[in-house]
Amino acid sequence: MPGSIDIEALCAKKGLRITEQRRVIARVLSDAVDHPDVEELHRRAAAIDRGISIATVYRTVRLFEEAGILERHDFRNGRSRYETTSDEHHDHLIDVESGRVIEFHDDELEALQARIAERLGYRLVDHRMELYAVPLKAAN
Ligand SMILES: [Zn+2]
Repeated sequence: MPGSIDIEALCAKKGLRITEQRRVIARVLSDAVDHPDVEELHRRAAAIDRGISIATVYRTVRLFEEAGILERHDFRNGRSRYETTSDEHHDHLIDVESGRVIEFHDDELEALQARIAERLGYRLVDHRMELYAVPLKAAN
């Protein structure tokens, strides 16, 4: 869940060297609640430290991703978006008009997916569910 993970502590645990710039990017990621893309991460990081280049953000994000600290999502709009890896599973609804990403969890849906896998002779170990949607409008 965004905001709830201390990336710096995770880096230390995974033996990742934490430079000052990485620390800033880690903090921006920890604070993010909106699944930002690299450009947005760069904008936020550069607001704190103007010396941080977009190349550094790309490298750092890849490093964090390889360490399992970050999860990458490709929500069909061409740009990868990131969030901190969480223990609590959730799925995403993507507003295709605004690009807004909404998190949800549904027990029935989880159970249904496990049942489908079972029916096909498998035990479900992971899944990704992405709903692409437009806002309901009063007048149409
Ligand atoms: Zn999410």
